[in-house]
Amino acid sequence: MTNGYDLLRIVPKNNALDTPVIDQLTSMMTAALRKCRRVSCEHGITTCSCGVRDSGEELILQGETGSLITTSLCVHFLAFHRDEVPSIELAKVANLRYGTAEPTVEELVYPQAIGSAPDRVACR
Ligand SMILES: [Zn+2]
Repeated sequence: MTNGYDLLRIVPKNNALDTPVIDQLTSMMTAALRKCRRVSCEHGITTCSCGVRDSGEELILQGETGSLITTSLCVHFLAFHRDEVPSIELAKVANLRYGTAEPTVEELVYPQAIGSAPDRVACR
């Protein structure tokens, strides 16, 4: 595991929303996701309550008070499980300073497919 503060490492319990929430926060998280450092980890693949799987990596961002650690499900959680994201996690996203970007289908529902970046490094 990497040292840092968790960001959107939540465990949704419900089905995905029928209509994804693509707003400022989702766009901010998308831009940050594209600039994170990816670290392969041994904890394996995480599967969301709706069946979407992550890439099995920790994604590391530089926040204002240290590193933020999230997963490739972060955009998916904001878009499809917004009703289950705690307000403190929304506040952390609002403090990101990576600009905004429109999420792709892969970032929303196939995050496991974007985990093959050649610059991945292994944990430990
Ligand atoms: Zn989900």
